[in-house]
Amino acid sequence: MTSLAAARLPESEQPLPVVRSVDDLRAQVSAWHRDGKTVALVPTMGALHDGHLALVRRARELADQVVASVFVNPTQFAPHEDFDRYPRDEAGDSSKLASAGCHLLYAPTVRAMYPEGFATAISVGGPAEGLCGTFRPQMFGGVALVVTKLFLQAQPDVAVFGEKDYQQLMVIRRFARDLDIPVRVEGLPTVREADGLAMSSRNAYLSADERARAPELNRALRDAATALAGGAEAATALEAVRTRITAAGFGSIDYVELRDADTLVPVTRAERPARLLAAAWMGKARLIDNVPVLPA
Ligand code: AMP
Repeated sequence: MTSLAAARLPESEQPLPVVRSVDDLRAQVSAWHRDGKTVALVPTMGALHDGHLALVRRARELADQVVASVFVNPTQFAPHEDFDRYPRDEAGDSSKLASAGCHLLYAPTVRAMYPEGFATAISVGGPAEGLCGTFRPQMFGGVALVVTKLFLQAQPDVAVFGEKDYQQLMVIRRFARDLDIPVRVEGLPTVREADGLAMSSRNAYLSADERARAPELNRALRDAATALAGGAEAATALEAVRTRITAAGFGSIDYVELRDADTLVPVTRAERPARLLAAAWMGKARLIDNVPVLPA
C-alpha cells in the first residue's frame, strides 16, 4: 500500500531509502558505478539545516548520485563534550535530505562503525595543529578515523564538506592525499543566517538573547578581514575582534587567529590569501567561524 502511494509522489517527496550496514551501502554504490554513474558523499552528524542541504545540492551538481551519511561520531568528542546531548532527528533529516535531492541515507549505528574490539586510530598533524586542534585535542583524530572509514565504505568519486569547519576541511584534504584515498574533496562556502551567523546544529543551544548577540562574531571577523586585506598587522586586527566579541557577551575565547589559507601556518600579515578563524563560547554553545582574507 505504501509503495503504491509512494509511486504517485513526485521524486522530491519520495521517502528516502536508508541503509545501515556497509554491505548494503556498498551494494547500492557498486550498482551505480556498474551503471556508469558517479557518486558523491556528504558526511554529516545530522540535525540538518540549510548549510548541510547546500552541500547536498552541490553534490548533485558534481555527481549523478548522492549519498548523505548521518552519524554522530563518538570518537571525535571528549568525555566532557556534548556527544550525549548533540541534537538528533533522523526522521526530520531524512525528509530534508529527500527534498534536497539526496538519493540515499547512510545511518550506521555506533556498534556497526566501532565494533567490539575496535583498536585503530589515525594521528593527524600539519593543518590539524593549533586552533581547534589545541582546544579539542581528540577531535581531528576522530574526524580522520570516521571520514576515512566513510570514504572506504562508500568509495565515492567526490565528497563535499563545508568551509564553516575550515580547519577540518584542510585536515581532510591532507589525510586523503597522504593516504592516497581516491576521492576528490570539495569545499563549499559557509551558509549563513540573514544576520551573518554561520548556520550550525549547535546554534540550537543558544537562548533567544544569546542568539541575538551571536552574529557579532561574524561582523567582527569581516571587519578585521577588511583591515587585514588593506595591510593591517594581525596582532592589532585580532585584538579588535577579541574586544568586540567580549563586549557582545561572548565568554571564553578559545582563539582568534590569522593563518595561511592553504597550509594553515600562522601568519602576521595577509601578504597572500589568508584565513581569519575564531572559536568562542556564547553561553553553552561553542561557536566557530572563519572568513577569507584576500590581499588586494
Ligand atoms: P556537521 O553535521 O556539523 O558535522 O557538518 C557536516 C558538514 O556540513 C561539514 O562538512 C560541515 O562543514 C558542513 N556544514 C555545517 N554547517 C555548515 C554551514 N553553515 N555552511 C556550510 N557547510 C556547513
